[in-house]
Amino acid sequence: MLRSRSTGIVFLVAAIALLVAGSADARVLAPSGVPKRLIFPVVGASHFTNDFGAPRGQGAHQGNDIIGPWRSPVVAVESGTVTLWTSSWRAGCMLWLDGDSGTRYAYIHLNNDLTSKNDNEGGCVQGIAYAPTLADGQHVQQGELLGFNGDSGDANGGVNHVHFELQERRGHSVSPYRWLRKARQLLYPVVKHVGPQGIGFRLKGTVHAVRESAEGTHLVIKATFLRATDGSKYDVDRKVFSTILPETVILAKKGRKKKPGKLTMAKPGRPVTVWTAPVQPTVETALGKLGALTATRVLIALPRR
Ligand SMILES: [Zn+2]
Repeated sequence: MLRSRSTGIVFLVAAIALLVAGSADARVLAPSGVPKRLIFPVVGASHFTNDFGAPRGQGAHQGNDIIGPWRSPVVAVESGTVTLWTSSWRAGCMLWLDGDSGTRYAYIHLNNDLTSKNDNEGGCVQGIAYAPTLADGQHVQQGELLGFNGDSGDANGGVNHVHFELQERRGHSVSPYRWLRKARQLLYPVVKHVGPQGIGFRLKGTVHAVRESAEGTHLVIKATFLRATDGSKYDVDRKVFSTILPETVILAKKGRKKKPGKLTMAKPGRPVTVWTAPVQPTVETALGKLGALTATRVLIALPRR
């Protein structure tokens, strides 16, 4: 009798200790585990709302739906290890990214079409759903191309979107909304195998400022559109720095007439087009950070009068 009661008390104390330890762990580890600023999962124009928890056919919505054009590049929000998952009819072509921070991310409804007509003929394979060389179990770098936006699984025939989930602890999805809001948008996915020639960009936007730094002169534009030398093009919305060298060609145009120009003509708000020298796509160049891109040519639009 006495023994069983004391055993009961021991169990009770142990259970309380476990509970306290468990909640302390969750408090200390979970929120600090997710990187403060992720890379945004979709490259190019997209939109999303905080639809986490919204009622859906199968229960509360476990992520945020990021809506964007068909086959928009989908990239790694942080460095981590990828697990490809193709056997869920509901998720369709999906993948898990186990971030180096311990945070787990799900990318669901990746592309399964060969054409934009929702043919469902592509399958969950490399080059259609997943990046051409992505392998199951591969470790990827932040910003690296993982796959392409689509409508596989129970999103079939609906709007192309990535259902994105964030799990601070495995199996416990939280709303990714505040991280998506703060995430940094890439101009271009980080891809290997682009060849030694690299990739150049033509960026359209408006002049934000001309900045001087120890490294030289930089034109800062608010970019709205990008076309890369591989033919890909995206609507974008971010500030991009490009270094201006003595050999950078600066042109001004009034109407259709082009003539030699000067950097002093780059007044804030003026429409501008910048061509950049080819680079290897890295996180730094894909973010258009200071010093990462060099302008070969700048075309400034002058007011008509
Ligand atoms: Zn969803």
